[in-house]
Amino acid sequence: MRTADVIVAGAGPSGLRVAARLAAAGLEVRVLERKARVGEAVVCTGIVGREVFGAFGLDRGAVVGEMQTVRLVSPRETEFVYTHPRPFACIVDRERFDGGLAEAAAAAGAVVVCGARVEGAAAGPGGVEVAVRHRDGGLERERAKLLVLATGVDFALQKRLGLSAPADFLMGAQVECAHPGAATAALYFGREVAPGAFAWSVPAGPGRARVGLLTRKDPKARLRAFVDRSLGGPSVREEGPVRVRPVAQGLLPRTCGDRVLAVGEAAGQTKTTTGGGISYGLACADLAAGTALDCFRRAAFGPADLAAYERRWKELLSREILVGQLTRRMCARLSDGRIESLFELARTDGLVPIIRATADFDRHSDLIFALLRRLSFMSFFRDVRDRLGPFCAS
Ligand SMILES: Cc1cc2nc3c(=O)[nH]c(=O)nc-3n(C[C@H](O)[C@H](O)[C@H](O)COP(=O)(O)OP(=O)(O)OC[C@H]3O[C@@H](n4cnc5c(N)ncnc54)[C@H](O)[C@@H]3O)c2cc1C
Repeated sequence: MRTADVIVAGAGPSGLRVAARLAAAGLEVRVLERKARVGEAVVCTGIVGREVFGAFGLDRGAVVGEMQTVRLVSPRETEFVYTHPRPFACIVDRERFDGGLAEAAAAAGAVVVCGARVEGAAAGPGGVEVAVRHRDGGLERERAKLLVLATGVDFALQKRLGLSAPADFLMGAQVECAHPGAATAALYFGREVAPGAFAWSVPAGPGRARVGLLTRKDPKARLRAFVDRSLGGPSVREEGPVRVRPVAQGLLPRTCGDRVLAVGEAAGQTKTTTGGGISYGLACADLAAGTALDCFRRAAFGPADLAAYERRWKELLSREILVGQLTRRMCARLSDGRIESLFELARTDGLVPIIRATADFDRHSDLIFALLRRLSFMSFFRDVRDRLGPFCAS
């Protein structure tokens, strides 16, 4: 039986980052990825805050564009253009981005195996044993001292090992389009377009865009209707398959257990406002690696030893996840008429300085509270603010 210090299930950004950190510290790390290659057919728009590259020492080779201006489009097609004082985000090619992280993990000494699906896992006193299904159908067992679940929105292993899985998901759908007019990123709101969330068109190279939406139901049909009706014009053409993927929502109570911890979307570490998860996953991967290294120093991998990880990541993200989720749920009840009046307010009533002063690409709660304070003359938003009261004080 093959053995290692750590097995990481899943070679997305979160798993690859943990693997790189642990391998760099001298541990023997195996990353098992079910897909045939890292980054294959990832459903993602690839927007990350600009700071991510410096904060995590990442190469910018996967960057295909930067964002400084966003066009917001209301249900009645009123436009509001917001330009930030400086570029605030980068658009990356996810396959190259993940590929760069895989190279970094391999350079640190981790072994990345593709076409290897972790089907089962069980922890015992001497270690954790996993069942690995290979692409040729063969089943192998591998053993390690610690298992890291970085499986994205696949929560099957968490359920088997007694970790939490989300009760709430949004559905994301995206398609690559030829879109000659798509020089600026645009967000579209309204009950017709994407009830409960929003749709987008984000430039992805000359004359091309990633067009997608988040919603609760019928993501594929809604995306097709959006491309036809809202983007309109014969020049906008789908140039690939529409890919659909759920996005985890909510704060998960239990993200570690006996010899196992979950990281990234596998631990629900995603922005509940927008569904973005790359930067939270990378940040929590570093926290997971820190706790794992402490455990290896003490040769203790029980739930109490790994609990420090859960404490640390929740200190960092609980407020963002809970405030975002509550706000988004309440905003899902906004009528198109109320969305129109918000656009009008944005145009005329001083919301822009609040956004400029408070917006942070990855942490939205301060902006949410600042906007709610400004909008509290409307009973709907006063109500939202009151419900978020406990978080406001923290
Ligand atoms: C339409 C859409 C657009 C998005 N746009 C953005 C965006 O612009 N910016 C952003 O930050 N986030 C975005 N996201 C979210 C982002 O894609 C995820 O948060 C991010 O990929 C999570 O990274 P991860 O490493 O935790 O998981 P993943 O990237 O999902 O990686 C998990 C890996 O585990 C593998 N795996 C799963 N189960 C097993 C198993 N049993 N054994 C072995 N391997 C397994 C999977 O094949 C996968 O490669 C978007 C999501 C959607 C749906």
